[in-house]
Amino acid sequence: MTTRIKPQPGVMDIELYVGGKGHIKGQSNTIKLSSNENPWGPSEAAKQAYRAMAGELHVYPSGDHTELRMAIAEVHGVDADRVICSNGSDELISFLCQAYAGQGDEVLFTEHGFLMYKLCAQGAGATPVAVPEKERRTDVDALLAAANEKTKLVFIANPNNPTGTMISDDDVARLADGLPDHTLLVLDGAYAEFVEGFDGHASLVEERENVFMTRTFSKIYGLGGLRLGWGYGPAEIVNTLHRMRGPFNVNASVLAAGEAAVRDVDYTQKCRETNAQWAEFLREKLLGMGIACDASQTNFVLARFGSETEADAADKALGDAGLIVRAVKSYGLSECLRITVGKGADCKRVVQVLQEFKESWVEA
Ligand SMILES: *Cc1c(COP(=O)(O)O)cnc(C)c1O
Repeated sequence: MTTRIKPQPGVMDIELYVGGKGHIKGQSNTIKLSSNENPWGPSEAAKQAYRAMAGELHVYPSGDHTELRMAIAEVHGVDADRVICSNGSDELISFLCQAYAGQGDEVLFTEHGFLMYKLCAQGAGATPVAVPEKERRTDVDALLAAANEKTKLVFIANPNNPTGTMISDDDVARLADGLPDHTLLVLDGAYAEFVEGFDGHASLVEERENVFMTRTFSKIYGLGGLRLGWGYGPAEIVNTLHRMRGPFNVNASVLAAGEAAVRDVDYTQKCRETNAQWAEFLREKLLGMGIACDASQTNFVLARFGSETEADAADKALGDAGLIVRAVKSYGLSECLRITVGKGADCKRVVQVLQEFKESWVEA
């Protein structure tokens, strides 16, 4: 008997999100470079704060996240009243779509943009629209041309995942200024901390009424396992999003760890510097062996091979050596592999394996 219990139209069209692989069958000593995690993990202070909560697990967490919001405000120079915390920044992407887009509305993002924009738009019943990029970079003119009466949200990540590229402050401001006045521009700053001196466009949020910024603790802060994100925007938008969230959407241990992590600015700085050094090492070596690679502003590089077949073969060679990287076919980049910047020794190993691969590879 087939069930008469049916989901809303469109729900079954949503593809299941497949994250970066964590294991390779039959291998135990693998190095995971597939999810842009911080290879050094979180700051010691964050781990300590997390452990210290073990005796308090019966107590409900703060529902207004005041202490974490204050810490974020102090460190990032933003207004604590307009910071909203979430169970990963994915949750904010979902809230934005649920609150601002529905049947008949369009949600724009770029061709090689983060998959959650599309999935959350679909989850809200809205129509996802992918806009072409220019040479793997966000194309402001194409986005402006695609925006219309129905466009409620525009998502861009700057720097972007999985391309690693970034557009200028001026270009982002031009996008904010050129969009229709019923359209909210969402700037995903998941990788903002990897860019020296960059505020993730917090200052643009200050200057405009149509700009919202999302941030995460999953990348430079090394807390992907905890699920913590935050957003910053105009009071009216933040006030709206608070209505979408559960009263205790961030748990107590996570709030404590996040606060300690954001306050440990020395550790963050060290991670930023070390990452930049090894990202550049990886890129130079890739270019040296004839693998195309844009300059990356993030903690990963996008290696571009001559063909999908070659990328698949390189993926296999890396996998055989215990190195797990991310194939990005689902992002429309079949001939590419996204490689997270690991510890120095991991990066050297990647280079060594790819070097051997390149020497033996002949396109059929
Ligand atoms: C990793 C990533 C995020 C982070 O999502 P969380 O839910 O906070 O873990 C958001 N946006 C982009 C573009 C990312 O790559």
